[in-house]
Amino acid sequence: MQSTIRKQNYRRRADWSPLPRVVAVAWPYFLLFMLIENILLIIENRPLYRLNDTITSLSHGLIEHSGKLLFRAGESYAYFYIYQHFKLMELPWNRPITWYLAAIGVDFCYYWVHRACHEVHILWAQHQVHHSSEEFNLAVGLRQSILQGWCGFIFYLPLAFYIPPAHFITHQQFNLLYQFWIHTKSIKTLGPLEYIFNTPQHHRVHHGSNIYCLDKNYGGVLIIWDRIFGTFAEEKKDEEIVYGLVYNQPSFNPLHLQTFYTEYVIQRFNSMTTWRHKLAAIFYGPSWQPGKPRLGLEEDKVKVVPRPVYDVRIPLWCNIYLLIHFSIMVYGFHLLAVHHVGLNPLTVLTFVIYIIGSLTAIGMLFDNKPNACVFELCRCMVLVTLIQRMQFININENLLLTFEIFFVLSGLFWFLQSIKVLQISSKIKLH
Ligand SMILES: [Zn+2]
Ligand SMILES: [Zn+2]
Repeated sequence: MQSTIRKQNYRRRADWSPLPRVVAVAWPYFLLFMLIENILLIIENRPLYRLNDTITSLSHGLIEHSGKLLFRAGESYAYFYIYQHFKLMELPWNRPITWYLAAIGVDFCYYWVHRACHEVHILWAQHQVHHSSEEFNLAVGLRQSILQGWCGFIFYLPLAFYIPPAHFITHQQFNLLYQFWIHTKSIKTLGPLEYIFNTPQHHRVHHGSNIYCLDKNYGGVLIIWDRIFGTFAEEKKDEEIVYGLVYNQPSFNPLHLQTFYTEYVIQRFNSMTTWRHKLAAIFYGPSWQPGKPRLGLEEDKVKVVPRPVYDVRIPLWCNIYLLIHFSIMVYGFHLLAVHHVGLNPLTVLTFVIYIIGSLTAIGMLFDNKPNACVFELCRCMVLVTLIQRMQFININENLLLTFEIFFVLSGLFWFLQSIKVLQISSKIKLH
C-alpha cells in the first residue's frame, strides 16, 4: 500500500526538483573539510591552499551549480521518459537489491562517461576544467564545467530500462559526493581498500600530467572497472606527479577556463580540409592528428616534468577585497539556489549571468589583467543598479543597504583606479 502511494506520488512529479539534491546541500561540509585539510597541511608543515587557485576552483563549482539552476535537470528528462515508456522491469522500490543495482550501475556508467570525457575531444573541452588546477586538494574536487552534466547523460540511459529515476538521481549524486574526498594529498594509502575503491592515491594519478598518468584511473567509487578494462595505473613513489593540464593555461579567470578549449576544438574543426577529418577533430581523442590512430600515438605524448606553477602576486588588501566580494557572491548564489524555483526564469538567468560575470571579474583581478579594474567598476555599478531597481524580499533591509554602500565604495575605488590606470605590482612566482 505504502509502496503504491509512493509510486503514485513519484508519477505525479513532473520535474525533478522534489528529489533530494544531496550535492547542493553538502556545500557547508565541503568548506568544513577544506578547513580540516588546511589544518592537516599546517601540521604536516606543507604549503596551504593558494587563495587565487582555491577561489578559482570554488568559482567553477558555483558556475556548475548556476548551470543546474538554469537547466533544471533537463539532461535527466530522457532518462525519465525512457523509464516511463520503455522500462523492461519494475524493481521493488524499497528492496536493497534495487539500491545495490543502482549503485553499481551508476558507477559502471560513470567509468564510461569519464573515459569518454578523456577520449572524445568535444567532451574533453568541458572536462578539462576539472583538470585545470595545478594543485591537488579538496577544492579541486568542486572544479567542474557548467556543461559537465550534459556530457554524460547518454551513457546513463541504459539504466533507465530498469532503475527507477529517483534511485538513479540519488545514486548519481552519492557517486559525485564520494569523489569529493579523493582530491587530497593528505591521505597516502588505504591498504587493502586500494584494490576495490577509488582512493586519493588512485585519483592523484588521474590528475597527473606525467606520461604514465595520462588517461588512467577513470573510476568513480570503484577502481575495479579500471583494473578490468586496462586503464589502471599505480602511483609511482619515485616520480613526482605534476598536476594540471599538459599545456597548462596561465589564468584564474573561470570563464576563460570554461571556454578556451571549446574555442580550440572549433579552430581544429575549421583547420581540417575534409569532413572525415573535421568529424575526427571533434569526436576522436584530444591527441589525434590526421593519419594517426583515434587516440594518437604513445610516442607523440609530451613528457611533462616538474614545472613552476602559475601564480600572480597581488597586494594583501586586494586578496582581502576579492575574498570579501567572493563571499558575497557565495551568499548571493545561496539565496538564488534556495529561491530560484519561485522566480521567473529570466530573473534566474539575469542573476546567473551576474554571478558568472562577478566570478570572471574576480578571476581577472587575480590575474592582474590591465582592464580588470574597468570590468570590476561595471560589475559594482550593475549590482547597485539592481538593488535600486529590484525588490529583494528575501534579504534583510540593513544587510541590503550595507551591500549597496560597500559596492558604491568599491565602484568608486575602481573608478579612481581606472582613471589613474594604477597597476598592481605583480610577478610570476616560481615554486
Ligand atoms: Zn578526468
Ligand atoms: Zn578529480
